[in-house]
Amino acid sequence: MDELLEFRCPSLEVMRKPFVDGQMTISRSAGKVTLPYNFMLVPAMKPSPCGYLGSRQGDCSCSPIQVQHYHSLISGPLLDRIDIHIEEPTLSIKELMTSDKGESSEDMR
Ligand SMILES: [Zn+2]
Repeated sequence: MDELLEFRCPSLEVMRKPFVDGQMTISRSAGKVTLPYNFMLVPAMKPSPCGYLGSRQGDCSCSPIQVQHYHSLISGPLLDRIDIHIEEPTLSIKELMTSDKGESSEDMR
């Protein structure tokens, strides 16, 4: 889910119960079905509304209150269910286009 905070709060909060229960129920007029719900969620979000907080690419134009409000849009209970939180710097186009393949998954493992 890129731009996690662009999703409406109710859409995010509805995912909390299936995280806990390990199953989800889809209800339609013809009936309902319960399915296992075991997946990996990889959300991404900008560090601030403008996206430049802590960036080498530009200056953040957001006030501390705007940044605080932006971060408050995601609930603590949902954040608690995300096991790994990583802050990554913005990459330049040159860095994205490098032919250096970096560290392999095997090496990281
Ligand atoms: Zn900003």
